[in-house]
Amino acid sequence: MRQLVIAIDGPSGSGKSTTSRAVARALGLSYLDTGAMYRAVTVAFLDGGVDPSDVAGIIRTTVEANLEISTDPDATWVRIDGRDVTEEIREQRTSANASAVSTVPECRANLVARQQQLIAAAPVGIVAEGRDITTVVAPDADVRLLLTADPEIRMARRNLDLGGDVDAAALRDQVLRRDADDSTLVNFTEAADGVTQLDCTYLTLQETIDAVLELIAERTGVRAAGTTWDRT
Ligand code: C5P
Repeated sequence: MRQLVIAIDGPSGSGKSTTSRAVARALGLSYLDTGAMYRAVTVAFLDGGVDPSDVAGIIRTTVEANLEISTDPDATWVRIDGRDVTEEIREQRTSANASAVSTVPECRANLVARQQQLIAAAPVGIVAEGRDITTVVAPDADVRLLLTADPEIRMARRNLDLGGDVDAAALRDQVLRRDADDSTLVNFTEAADGVTQLDCTYLTLQETIDAVLELIAERTGVRAAGTTWDRT
């Protein structure tokens, strides 16, 4: 059987991680969170004492890092040089410094190659999500989707993700400033040719998941059996 590849891009707070993971589970596919890889390298350079402005040091860290990531949607973890950094990659200091990795072309090229290997190794198929999956990492994916939502909604969702009491300046940094930095090398605000845009500003998470599953079914004939989403 041919491998099924679903590529999903979108800005921060668009709900793409939760949606992608749920879709992977529903279809029995692997799941790749490429943002977690940029975040893991960020943890590595910060912990290694490399300054965010030291581009050569960040490239070296990226190339040398032993980066392992789970592609099991039911057990997501990421390790750097054997150390589990699953929690650390979600810390504010990681989010605030991730663009020091993602805006360096050499770092992107290294991580893109690793992501392509992970996708090729998925036994049945994979849902891969990030900023450049539909355009650079897997432009030949069976289904290519751009999930968008209005900035106010994305900030509100990110606030909820982080426990509900994040101050306004930190939220703007995590969503708007990060989108602006991230879009210097990658365009993820407009759908490229052949990419379907799904605006989920007015959709609940379940509605978003259902819409993505419906689209995959229409395009590929692959349909989920039973429950589509389980919060645990
Ligand atoms: O998706 P997430 O917010 O976890 O991504 C963290 C950071 O990794 C983003 O802000 C962006 O700088 C970078 N990233 C990227 N390309 C991807 C995925 C993430 O540049 N495919």
